[in-house]
Amino acid sequence: MQNMFSNRMQLLGTETAFEMLAKAQELERQGKEIIHLEIGEPNFPTPVNITEAGIRALQGGMTKYTPAPGLLEPRQAIAAYISKTRGIPVEPEEVVLVTGGKPIMFYSILATVNPGDEVIYPNPGFPIYESMIRFVGGKPIPIPLREENSFQIDITELNSLITDRTKMLILNSPQNPTGSFLAREDIEAIAEKILGRDIWVLSDEIYEKILYEGEMFSISSVPGMKEKTIILNGFSKSYSMTGWRLGYGVMNRELAEKITRLVVNSTSCVPGFIQMAGLEAITGPQTATAKMVEKFKERRNAIVAGLNAISGVTCLTPPGAFYVFPNIKSFKRSSDELAEYLLYEAGVSSLGGQAFGAFGEGYLRLSYANSLENIKHAIKRIENALAKL
Ligand code: PLP
Repeated sequence: MQNMFSNRMQLLGTETAFEMLAKAQELERQGKEIIHLEIGEPNFPTPVNITEAGIRALQGGMTKYTPAPGLLEPRQAIAAYISKTRGIPVEPEEVVLVTGGKPIMFYSILATVNPGDEVIYPNPGFPIYESMIRFVGGKPIPIPLREENSFQIDITELNSLITDRTKMLILNSPQNPTGSFLAREDIEAIAEKILGRDIWVLSDEIYEKILYEGEMFSISSVPGMKEKTIILNGFSKSYSMTGWRLGYGVMNRELAEKITRLVVNSTSCVPGFIQMAGLEAITGPQTATAKMVEKFKERRNAIVAGLNAISGVTCLTPPGAFYVFPNIKSFKRSSDELAEYLLYEAGVSSLGGQAFGAFGEGYLRLSYANSLENIKHAIKRIENALAKL
């Protein structure tokens, strides 16, 4: 059977969160009660004004194909939003709507990276980056994010990794899985290393609104960087719309045309009524998002305090996203083993840090996109289970 599949499939990785979720759900089917801290999905409903806009569009007959890069109105709204927030001129022709944030990784890496090209990516980081780099035959070059550096990029180290073969640098701020954030000075220092070279920057800004301290700054705002930057953004996290599958990329026209061709060759377009829901999300009231972020901050403070009170666990306070990345090295077990132990012993589903790359070993990733009550229960359960080791 082996030779019935393409060789390239052996290069493609996966996202362990979905596997862990399946294991946890199997335990639930057997009657066990599990607290889910594995999946990165806000537990709030999609704001009503957004859902209603989607329903109105459906009832109004938006059930046909749309132009492959998206309808003009939502692309105009996104262009205006990015222009305003990043301080750069953006035209609708530089915006491509896709089915979630993830396809922008898939398409932009497919459209720019040749076999043998080097791509520098954050490690620990979102697992799909490394998976896609390998899939297209690129060479993944991890830039380690270390706890002693608050899980931020060390600019000197980054500089030492840039070579004549570097084709792309992937940035993600606020970051999954560590919740770290790159301040304006850091981003400007990174841009200085990139300007003057033929290197793309894939800037994953999907957690842009989930930031508790500091101000969001995009590398596209640095003079000279806009043409080299692919902004990855979407609605899943900011508007609690994970299941709608709506995201977008902002990039120069030439690349936008290539990515549009990949859309034509795969999904054809995002359903029109979903695009209209996205239009409402971007142009309508932002109060639901602000409330959600307030709640996340409260939960972050509770989970960080709770984890630090457990003997053998230490946890930094992340400035953004909805994840914590506690250090569990004192337990002398691999992070996967410990995550598995906590699932079966404590009924708490989390992820081993190495699911986000080799430099994630020694940590767990917990998502606090769950109720405060569940988070407090989970902390008690984790504490009791770890005390038995
Ligand atoms: N980028 C990062 C860093 C993420 O954590 C995620 C989702 O977890 C995505 C992109 C993908 O988001 P979407 O669900 O919109 O595809």
